[in-house]
Amino acid sequence: MMDAVVPSTLLDLAVQSLLSNESAAIQALEDIPRELFVPLFIAAFKGGHKSILSAMVKVWPFYCLHIGSLSIQESHHELLKAMIEYLPLCPAQNSAPRRPKIRILDLRQVTYSRITCPEVISKSPLCFHSCAYSDHSITKIEGHLPLGNSGLETQSPRPVELLVDISLDGSLIEKEFLDLLVGKVEESSGSLHVCCRDLQVDKLRNYKRTLKFLDFNCVDRLSVTKGSLSYINSILSRMAHLQSLSLLKVSFRSLNGKVFKIFLSHLQRMENLKELNLASFYLKNHLDKVLRFIPPGLDFLYLPFCNLSSRDYQFLSQSPQATHLKLLNLSNNTMYWNDLEPICTLLVNLSGTLQILELNNCHISDSAISVLIPALIRCTQLRVLGFASNPITMPILMNIMNYLTPLMELKYVIYPIPVHCFDEWHFQCSLDRRKLAIVQLQLKTMLELAQRNDMKWITYTE
Ligand SMILES: [Zn+2]
Ligand SMILES: [Zn+2]
Repeated sequence: MMDAVVPSTLLDLAVQSLLSNESAAIQALEDIPRELFVPLFIAAFKGGHKSILSAMVKVWPFYCLHIGSLSIQESHHELLKAMIEYLPLCPAQNSAPRRPKIRILDLRQVTYSRITCPEVISKSPLCFHSCAYSDHSITKIEGHLPLGNSGLETQSPRPVELLVDISLDGSLIEKEFLDLLVGKVEESSGSLHVCCRDLQVDKLRNYKRTLKFLDFNCVDRLSVTKGSLSYINSILSRMAHLQSLSLLKVSFRSLNGKVFKIFLSHLQRMENLKELNLASFYLKNHLDKVLRFIPPGLDFLYLPFCNLSSRDYQFLSQSPQATHLKLLNLSNNTMYWNDLEPICTLLVNLSGTLQILELNNCHISDSAISVLIPALIRCTQLRVLGFASNPITMPILMNIMNYLTPLMELKYVIYPIPVHCFDEWHFQCSLDRRKLAIVQLQLKTMLELAQRNDMKWITYTE
């Protein structure tokens, strides 16, 4: 209980003196007041004091411990591993002067969480981030049992939750991390629930066996790069709370086949889905199928490299699912003259909500962008607009800027390098950097004249 307010300078002094002598600090953990733990933890984490952190986890006097908004660098990886290693799973001996209270170790990096959740009522500890879905969660296991019941605590292993985001990219660091998690789960004999809410996997088939220890029902963000849709289906079948699904370079045989149908049925079940990325799905003439199965609350839709056709744009412009998107990415799909009308309709439909629009590399010419502009400037919520790598000339680019500068929410524009800067259009090696520098200067001057110094116009030169 915070019953005394310690002046911050005094607190800093206490923390610094503890950190200056690691072994003394570790000894002192048995006796220091609880309110010193959080500032000491923050300072030890920032300073990379691995042994102090390991010792602190062992005797952490609160119900939960969150990394929260502490920034995690590459060098912190060892710290996180040590914290997992020393996370106490079995109740400590009664003789230990300070028994660990920690039940939830949260190593996710999130901006909104404190190091430990406030103890509203001291007798029933509560964590705002505890697992709500898994059968192995504390809530499900202890259910209605009174918390803090000492008889229960000493007899059976207390359920403990470890909250981690997992990103598997084939690197050694990730492999070691995964091995550590699997080892810890085995050591816990069923009392540890590894709760992964953000799962990113590159080359899914390499991890078929290793991922078995996870309860996929906890995942709310799934991203897979390179994998077979039939295996993804088997994962999706065990998920129900997805908020974000990203599938990149996923393979399947046919848009008319059984596997794709099963995938659509899983999509339909995901009522909480807010974000869908189907990059490189070859959806030509089949977007309507997908749109029919997307839950109505979708905010972010990414369809780059989907080989969309006129028919697809037509459906998109009429789809009730595409009337309130905040983000739409149609990059790397060719837009022909006939496609412009449905795209204008789509933009008008989205004008009240659209914040991010990406139309990079869509073969949009001067005349095409001139058709799109009236619809585009109705999107008053727009914050980011990308239309890089389209064959646009300098006079039209300047014209576009004149139209866009009154959009006060618009802060970032990723513009195409005008065609005159290339000897041969779209061969990056033929880019004349001197000409580009003049373009950049001209645009900068125009922005100043329009008094839009808050707006950034950037482009890709690689
Ligand atoms: Zn908490
Ligand atoms: Zn969970």
